[in-house]
Amino acid sequence: MNVDIIVIGGGHAGCEAAFAASRLKKKVLLVTHDVLAIGQMSCNPAIGGLGKSHLVREIDAMGGLMGICADRAGIHFKVLNASKGPAVRATRSQSDRLLYKKAVKTIIDSEHLLTSISEEVIDIEVKNGKATGVKLKSGETISASKIILTAGTFLNGKLFTGEEEADGGRKRSKSSKILANCLRSLNLGDARLKTGTPPRILASSIDFSSLEVQPGDSPRPCMSFIGSSDMHPTQMNCFITRTNLKTHDIIKSGLDRSPMFSGRIDGVGPRYCPSIEDKIHRFADKESHQIFIEPEGLSSDEVYPNGISTSMPKDIQKKMVRSILGFEKAKITQFGYAVEYDFFDPRNLSQTLETKSIENLYFAGQINGTTGYEEAAAQGLVAGINAALSLDDKDPWIESRANSYIGVLVDDLITLGTKEPYRMFTSRAEHRLLLREDNADQRMTPYAYSMGIISKERWEVFQKKMDMIEAETQALEKIKIDPSSFGGKNKSKQPVLSILKRPEAKLEDIYKLLEKPLPEKGVLLDIETTRKYAGYIERQKKEIKKIKKYENAKIPKEIVFSDITGLSNEAKQKLEKVLPKTIAHAQRIPGITPAAISLLLVHIKKEQNSLTKKIGP
Ligand code: FAD
Repeated sequence: MNVDIIVIGGGHAGCEAAFAASRLKKKVLLVTHDVLAIGQMSCNPAIGGLGKSHLVREIDAMGGLMGICADRAGIHFKVLNASKGPAVRATRSQSDRLLYKKAVKTIIDSEHLLTSISEEVIDIEVKNGKATGVKLKSGETISASKIILTAGTFLNGKLFTGEEEADGGRKRSKSSKILANCLRSLNLGDARLKTGTPPRILASSIDFSSLEVQPGDSPRPCMSFIGSSDMHPTQMNCFITRTNLKTHDIIKSGLDRSPMFSGRIDGVGPRYCPSIEDKIHRFADKESHQIFIEPEGLSSDEVYPNGISTSMPKDIQKKMVRSILGFEKAKITQFGYAVEYDFFDPRNLSQTLETKSIENLYFAGQINGTTGYEEAAAQGLVAGINAALSLDDKDPWIESRANSYIGVLVDDLITLGTKEPYRMFTSRAEHRLLLREDNADQRMTPYAYSMGIISKERWEVFQKKMDMIEAETQALEKIKIDPSSFGGKNKSKQPVLSILKRPEAKLEDIYKLLEKPLPEKGVLLDIETTRKYAGYIERQKKEIKKIKKYENAKIPKEIVFSDITGLSNEAKQKLEKVLPKTIAHAQRIPGITPAAISLLLVHIKKEQNSLTKKIGP
């Protein structure tokens, strides 16, 4: 078989990698345990959410799969943080699990340069420090110029429910033991992490009458820039219930048989998505924890109780579930479990996600220490695009932290590494107001177009949006209105675009007042945000410029971080602990803000001036 790139794994990272590389005209072979499981959601059937929807929009802006598949499969859409600032607003969609998988598989199958096969890879061929192909369990060896490994939670995967233990990458899937052991011998810095999933419950056994309903938003948002609500299938409601003290007592009574508490799981779990046993242990004073009851799909009678991920013994899970309001007669269809797996230190990767020690071998997804479909997909895209660009001898695609969450994700992973499953948050980005989910297309689509990775249709949609923003802005520039309806005291008419700076002013209301037809949501949001936050946006742009200018500046050894005026104690401690050698290094320390970097720069300058005065120029 003659292929350019082999992608191992048909999860979220693997699918984006394979699709991107084939769009860049490379012959791709996707090798995965089971082609029928391509695009499977291992855990929660949901895409997006805080920090994560920003990644989805960026993947989408680059022509990726995730956003459009979420639109084709979404049965409940919501904008989270809708009342907060535009930087932290996030779209979340609940997917029909089967429709999502079908949407991904349909796209993968339609790519004529992309072939998928069901096989297990048991080794990666390496010659003279270069990856040259893969060895399959069937005995065949396939050569390729680039190999992208996206094995998720499967490497030495072990599943735990109470005292039961079994090998597996996830329920009903075998683990990758042979490949994992071969990879260990390559000394790529492996360690163990763990994650978990809640029990699934039969919807028809739940008493929904006592529960709070959570309908989706109306009008419905979309995940993809080329999505539309017409694509969405029939919508469903989510519901909310809570744990109670009885639930907590039941869990406490089984802790001695919990694999997490009895020491049988070594791997560190996700801090921000802990198991219910972890939550009641860590937050012992909390009397209750919220549970979102999310449908698994239109044709499924199962729900996903989001918030009670657990690996407690089955008898405890049964009692625990039945102690919860609405679940008194609940039937469990699949017990919750934890999965422990190998991951590799991402500091051994370059910005393209190629391993530093083995040329032509790329790692993407959960194996790099992340958790979540979106984080995996973003990395798959980076690896797929860069593997293809490298084959054409083109410059790599490297995103900066200032331009995208993808840039933040890759930079965090390869410079800081991770000791626990890494998930994306808006707080990880220094320039949040510039990296909004609504402007991901403006930040990335022109580059994607120049690379030749996106469809003509997507480019036209983008151009149309930009033309509309310009036309609407020009029209608004000419209009003046009475500001008193928007909190203004002055009676004389003022330009609409300056009234928009008032916190009370909403562009939608101004259009209504003017009896002007509303443009599409993305256009409205862009004009409103860029005007309302013009001052902050300008300041962030200046900060980026300044930091870029000094990025490679060295921090003199003599600098005493605790002497820096105005710096918080937390920032001082972090700098003293890491002792960064350059400004670029300092700005990558979590919690070191652009403002802290500015103070550091001022301090260095002051110190250098006083040194020059002492010893002369
Ligand atoms: P995966 O989606 O795991 O895909 C890996 C692919 O590689 C599979 O197709 C597999 O068949 C294939 N593969 C592996 N080894 C081989 C081989 N040797 N040969 C051929 N094919 C191979 N994320 C959250 O954000 N929140 C959660 O609460 C959460 N809970 C989870 C609970 C469980 C039990 C599991 C399993 C995962 C959970 N996740 C959660 C994580 C989420 O599922 C992953 O982040 C995401 O699926 C990772 O995508 P990936 O592409 O890296 O790997």
